[in-house]
Amino acid sequence: MVTIIKNVKVYKPEYAGVKDILILAGKIAAVGEDLRADFGGSIEVQEIDGGDLAAVPGFIDSHEHILGGGGEGGFHTRTPEASLGDLIQNGITTVVGCIGTDGVGRDMTALLAKAHALENEGISTYAYTGSYQVPVHTLTDSLMKDIMMLDKVIGVGEVAVSDHRSSQPTFEEFVRIASDARVAGMLSGKAGIVNVHLGDSPRKLDLIWRVIRETEIPASQFLPTHVNRNEGLFEECLDFAGEGGTIDFTGNEDIDYWETICDEVRVCKGIRRLLEKGISNDRFTISSDGQGSMPVFGKDGQFQGIGIGKASCLLKEVRECVRKEGIPLETAIKGITSNPASVLKLSSKGHIGPGFDADICLLSEDTLELKTVIAKGRIMVKDGKQQVFGTFERK
Ligand SMILES: [Zn+2]
Repeated sequence: MVTIIKNVKVYKPEYAGVKDILILAGKIAAVGEDLRADFGGSIEVQEIDGGDLAAVPGFIDSHEHILGGGGEGGFHTRTPEASLGDLIQNGITTVVGCIGTDGVGRDMTALLAKAHALENEGISTYAYTGSYQVPVHTLTDSLMKDIMMLDKVIGVGEVAVSDHRSSQPTFEEFVRIASDARVAGMLSGKAGIVNVHLGDSPRKLDLIWRVIRETEIPASQFLPTHVNRNEGLFEECLDFAGEGGTIDFTGNEDIDYWETICDEVRVCKGIRRLLEKGISNDRFTISSDGQGSMPVFGKDGQFQGIGIGKASCLLKEVRECVRKEGIPLETAIKGITSNPASVLKLSSKGHIGPGFDADICLLSEDTLELKTVIAKGRIMVKDGKQQVFGTFERK
């Protein structure tokens, strides 16, 4: 199957003008003007009219509890696994799975099985080894072996710090995790990233600062997440980004309410502040924390129960960046495309250009609604309707 998208506004993520995109065998073969795909009828060619649409790279969610998470209110509060539809209906064509608080009831065997299942169903998947806990619960007998020898494992995490649910790692334990991940990443050509869950304690990034100050490990080895959890933490994370680190915002579909009860930093405002500080627009990512457990409140602020983090927040946050803060789409979209691809060393992901995987989202140009999702050349969502379903999803 050959697919050609005609006359679409291409964001590579940099804006490249109105172009055609030719897709062959799951890869982007060409991006240019007046491209032709005529094989004399010997190969079926699918044409998509790109008029009024913007083409952006498929979204990369660098922190998603694909296996389910939660459980902090007892076993019945364990959240369900992500379905293929949960991801592709929100434009996600690449996901990095992680385990959260519960590294006992869920483990690396199950996480990798789930990642393979989603890959079989059509998207690209990776994983971090471990969970909140230290020592890290690995699949093989070492963190280094997990990163070097398990194809899908690109780093370690989410290691929890500055949180009452953390294993309270000592500096020595924490620095050993970072050094093992760094060297294993180097030896296997992977990022070896340390995805760090930041809690809301006043210790903030203390452990990370010590590693950067007292060892040779650079800030770029870490991808701290939940950086917008509160104002004080965010300020310190901006300093970290200023020193060459990349910071990961957690999207929030219910931020209108959360803003009224705490000082969680709205993603679009945080990104504007980062840019105003003169920090490179390569230094931020946005992830969903999808399938994690979240308290749900009614309009009156009453606790209504436990809900599930939604992957839909990724595009919603980008939309807010553009609409509320006037950040150009080509800048905002980097947070869920080229920036995670770069920090996670996913070399075939995150860009629209020849040779990259054909992971593409088509958005309506005016409303930035998601219309079409293509993953590895296959149309997963068309005109807003899911086309490819997970094994146990209903059509
Ligand atoms: Zn977390």
